[in-house]
Amino acid sequence: MSLIVQKFGGTSVADADRIRNVARIITETYRRGHSLVVVLSAQGDTTDDLIAKAAEINPHGSKREMDMLLSTGEQISCALCSMAIEAMGYPVVSLTGWQAGFQTDSAYGGARIKKIGTERVLAELDKKKIVIVTGFQGVNKYDDITTLGRGGSDTSAVALAAVLHADLCQIYTDVDGVYTADPRVVKGAKKLDEITYDEMMELATLGAQVLHNRSVEMAKRYHVKLEVLSSFSGQPGTKVKEVAKTMEKPYISGVAKDANIARLAVVGLQDRPGIAFQIFSALAKEKINVDIIIQSIGRHDTKDITFTVSRDDMDRAREVLMDMKDSLGFDHVDVTDEIAKVSIVGAGMINNPGVASRMFEAIYNAGINIHMIATSEIKVSVLVDKCDADMAVQAVHSRFFGE
Ligand code: ADP
Ligand code: ASP
Ligand code: MG
Repeated sequence: MSLIVQKFGGTSVADADRIRNVARIITETYRRGHSLVVVLSAQGDTTDDLIAKAAEINPHGSKREMDMLLSTGEQISCALCSMAIEAMGYPVVSLTGWQAGFQTDSAYGGARIKKIGTERVLAELDKKKIVIVTGFQGVNKYDDITTLGRGGSDTSAVALAAVLHADLCQIYTDVDGVYTADPRVVKGAKKLDEITYDEMMELATLGAQVLHNRSVEMAKRYHVKLEVLSSFSGQPGTKVKEVAKTMEKPYISGVAKDANIARLAVVGLQDRPGIAFQIFSALAKEKINVDIIIQSIGRHDTKDITFTVSRDDMDRAREVLMDMKDSLGFDHVDVTDEIAKVSIVGAGMINNPGVASRMFEAIYNAGINIHMIATSEIKVSVLVDKCDADMAVQAVHSRFFGE
């Protein structure tokens, strides 16, 4: 007998029939003799709908109240799913993040898990109950409700699997597993039987929202056996693990797109030491994460520094820069969110020279201009106009994986 954590995403619990379908998967696992902890997301578009509702009342509502609101979506799906399981005659209990022991820091809207007290969950498992836990939420030291950031239920599931030393964490979603690119957008995307934690972490960070990137980081750190599979098809999914068997074969495992970014260019900076330090330390103080950075020579002994941030940080980043205009002495700041990042990821890339140039060639052949480039040992990212991004992804994917 083993302990399994199963997580079901929003589409999987979107309506009554789907909740019954999920209840069937859960109870079948339970009938096979496993202890079972289940993490659920909010139904369908509930979280988006709640955000829209808040905007109608107060577009600048505090983050604390937003978390109070958004956490309700997961409570609904958990209560309904528990009722479906009760109706099937199985012992079940649903728990909120607080009841399940999730303690987080106070970063409302993007809280980090500090600790999970497992007493209640273990007590319920001892009573042979199926335990259903709300994803995406916890409480901070003031006992206020926090949420972990969009897509955070994956992280709730992996965190529970880690602290409970579960034998397996299954992430059920609306596709059959992890593909070489988003199968809903890219023609010819292929399902991967397995992928390494590192590659999956890069793909998730670079825009493949099939897994929350923090969930993969945590799975790697705590050696959680992770599997991504469909709640609809019954097909085997993708295993995320330390070393993939097929690692030597394909040197690229996937292509990802992130359209949720913005580019800021500080134009006409004085060319003297300390400028980059001043800019990026001010941004760091505001907890703004900076991604690709380029410094280039401008006219008349000046330089330009261009960088990307998450779209959500765009306005704040601009404010930080404008606050420094006098001390830095630059000409102006150019800001745009009409851009997207397209990336290839693969652990085998490091031993295969020419991978980046093949990517650039594919993008050139598609007639698309590249604005910025960043590389690491296992990824190459380029910045293109947002309107070209899907075409760039398709071109790059076809180049490496065929149609
Ligand atoms: P859930 O609600 O189950 O958490 P998400 O919408 O968060 O589901 O993630 C699943 C979606 O991720 C899929 O429907 C798919 O469109 C998208 N996706 C993006 N990149 C990939 C990829 N490389 N492999 C599989 N799915 C991907
Ligand atoms: N319901 C939350 C969201 O839509 C968390 C999740 O689904 O993982 O982002
Ligand atoms: Mg998700």
